[in-house]
Amino acid sequence: MDRLNALREKLVEKGLDGFLVTGSENRRYLSGFTGSYGALLIGMDRALIITDFRYLSQVMDEATDFQLCRQGTDMWSTIHKSILELGWNQVGFEAEHLVVRDYSVLTDGMENISWEPVSDLVSSLRQIKDPAEIEKIRQAVDLTDHVWQMVSTQIKPGFSERDVAFHLEMEMRRAGAQGPAFATIVASGPRGALPHGLAGERVLALGDLVVVDFGCVLDGYHSDMTRTLLLGIVDSKQREIYELVLKAQLAAIAGLKPGMTGSEGDSLARNIIKDEGYGEQFGHGLGHSLGLEIHESPRLSPSDETILAPGMVLTVEPGIYLPDWGGVRIEDVVVITETGCEVLTASDKQLTVI
Ligand code: ZN
Ligand code: ZN
Repeated sequence: MDRLNALREKLVEKGLDGFLVTGSENRRYLSGFTGSYGALLIGMDRALIITDFRYLSQVMDEATDFQLCRQGTDMWSTIHKSILELGWNQVGFEAEHLVVRDYSVLTDGMENISWEPVSDLVSSLRQIKDPAEIEKIRQAVDLTDHVWQMVSTQIKPGFSERDVAFHLEMEMRRAGAQGPAFATIVASGPRGALPHGLAGERVLALGDLVVVDFGCVLDGYHSDMTRTLLLGIVDSKQREIYELVLKAQLAAIAGLKPGMTGSEGDSLARNIIKDEGYGEQFGHGLGHSLGLEIHESPRLSPSDETILAPGMVLTVEPGIYLPDWGGVRIEDVVVITETGCEVLTASDKQLTVI
């Protein structure tokens, strides 16, 4: 109900009679319905959830603040009929979650209604996680820590990148995850220079740096962590780059606090890497929020001016990528608190040679 009321305040600000929700994570966030098909119509005193016969009993169990409306011949005609019954004139819809084809079906024959595209309304409400959400993220992060502890010690030269990904994903499922949060990244040796190098056929060799970035989905919520391993022997350059990335990551964690902007948060790590001459080799933002999706707003990036607030959950993941050499990235998940941030990820991040 708190979430619905927060949305209704936004509708009043925007002068809307009602709001159509078609984004799947937003539908889940606002209604509690975890099924994969449905739309919400939310007005000042009514909240409808439209779905089809497959989900009727699930909706009654999960979306207790919503009135169930069974889809007729198709979703759009049911939405039309419902909006006419509700008597709405100004109707908002999610600009980022309605494709052009569906928009034309939605508005066809409904020219008397004023359709207002609204961007990122629900995602802005989702920026600050409530305690129940933080607990779910914490559990997803704990699961990845547990899996990393089991798998990282077994990685050795002769494994392919795909072997590593397979073991991580298998152990995540064994530990109760619904599945991986995204396609697991295992980028070894020179492939480590690709920040999003999906696990491939390359076989790990002695002296490789191996960037492993993975996460799970547990009860709808995502985790995300990166560690960079060294196989067998370390040279001075590998050590230098690793220590620099770690120093930047620790400085960001020490400095993140509410009241600063996403770009100020980003600069905590970026300035350290820039000062050592590797600014150009850190080509992505420092981090992103996560929750029902793996990438949410706000971001820790030079272009995000969102003010950080307690309850925001963010990754902190500086990296340095050198073509033909490899890369280093270290990523933890943190929660912004009243005074700073709390690190949820517990896995060791000192230089580990295996
Ligand atoms: Zn990651
Ligand atoms: Zn990430």
